[in-house]
Amino acid sequence: MVFHLYNTLSRKKEVFRPIKDKQVNVYICGPTVYNFPHIGNYRAYVAGDLLIRYLKYQKYRVKFIQNLTDVDDKTIRDSQEQNKSLKEFTKPFIDGFFEDLRTLNILPAYKYPRATEHIKDMVKTIKKLLDKGLAYKTETGDIYFAINKFKGYGKLAHLNEEQLKSGASGRVSADEYDKENPRDFALWKAWTKEDGNVFWETEIGKGRPGWHIECSSMSSKYLGQPFDIHGGGVDLIFPHHENEIAQAEGAEGRQFVNYWFHNEWLLVDGQKMSKSAGNFYNLRDILNKGYNPLAVRYLLIATHYRQQVNFTFKGLDAARSSLQRLWDFMKKLDECNGEGNDEVVNKAVVNAVKSFEDNLNNDLEIAGALAAVFDFVKEINVVMPSLSKKNVKEIKKIMKLFDSVLGFIIVEEGKIDTSIQKLIDEREAARKAKDFKKADRIRDELKKQGIVLEDTPKGARWKRV
Ligand SMILES: [Zn+2]
Repeated sequence: MVFHLYNTLSRKKEVFRPIKDKQVNVYICGPTVYNFPHIGNYRAYVAGDLLIRYLKYQKYRVKFIQNLTDVDDKTIRDSQEQNKSLKEFTKPFIDGFFEDLRTLNILPAYKYPRATEHIKDMVKTIKKLLDKGLAYKTETGDIYFAINKFKGYGKLAHLNEEQLKSGASGRVSADEYDKENPRDFALWKAWTKEDGNVFWETEIGKGRPGWHIECSSMSSKYLGQPFDIHGGGVDLIFPHHENEIAQAEGAEGRQFVNYWFHNEWLLVDGQKMSKSAGNFYNLRDILNKGYNPLAVRYLLIATHYRQQVNFTFKGLDAARSSLQRLWDFMKKLDECNGEGNDEVVNKAVVNAVKSFEDNLNNDLEIAGALAAVFDFVKEINVVMPSLSKKNVKEIKKIMKLFDSVLGFIIVEEGKIDTSIQKLIDEREAARKAKDFKKADRIRDELKKQGIVLEDTPKGARWKRV
């Protein structure tokens, strides 16, 4: 089976064919840097990482671009509230985002273009749309996209005639708006005093771009038009991605993107995550409770990207035990020095690789791919004492190959230890501050990871059990 990918545009699994042989260009909507991304956002980034890693596994060169939205309604609102410049306000969130990507072992993009550094490109696109009569300027200086002038509007979200008719009358200036009602949306927002010192003096006026134009301009700039794959969460299909298509195809008169890749929601304890429900977590909240970041990665990956994933702390514990099985297996391999069992090893390797690839070729069917890895581990475990050094080399090679896609099997021992030491230090600090509840909680979390603490006069010592 060749690689098949589900395309939101056609609502079908399609054979994946890149525009250029052996080269795939990918864009995945990045964060709006007005806070630390929540774990739902990381589901999208981890899903994209799985896709990119599997493309690389298939020997494609991948050019991956991810934007940073560092100017929009929310960044302006919150930076004004804190009396900070946009740059000063967004910096810690940009730094935090990159740190989280490393923590979750997400491969870095080729480039992370920032909206504020691409205003010229956006102005160029908006001018083209004005020239073609697909956009219009209001008396206040705002510029809107006229959705009834663009023939293909609604093709990604599959909006029907009725929805388009009822929606074509109004216009909306907010970057994010309700999902039922298609309306003319803002490409350019003329400066108002609420914007403070956030504005650009341009040929189309003094103001700032809308959110949607940021992504379509920056993606085509770096990846060309059309390019291969554009991704993001399902919540972005409408209006964000629909509007990106309208802008890019309206301006250039040709297809924008060939494959649209969307991941489903993340639920927490079976419910939609929200601040008011008290189930809202960013990555730091979870790691501060003592969980291993790779367990988070495992949990986010292990459910097929087009299904809702239910995030629970119990699920994280289970993810941690699954990982431990893999890590123990890798460790035990080093102790083997037997006669060898080429027949079993060769057969297991061939079967595992075939099953791993067959499953991932089927629109990244991750459950089957993980089963291939765990079945392989089980089969090898049975003959473990007889393995020769040569067998071990072969097995490690295959596990490394699997890990090039999964990103959680091969961990340097030091890396695990650093995260443990960090927790121990935090527990010490909690004890000193007489926050015994927190200290006990961290000790319990460590215990779950197989780490037992012994308090000595010189501080806590730990051992693995
Ligand atoms: Zn976007």
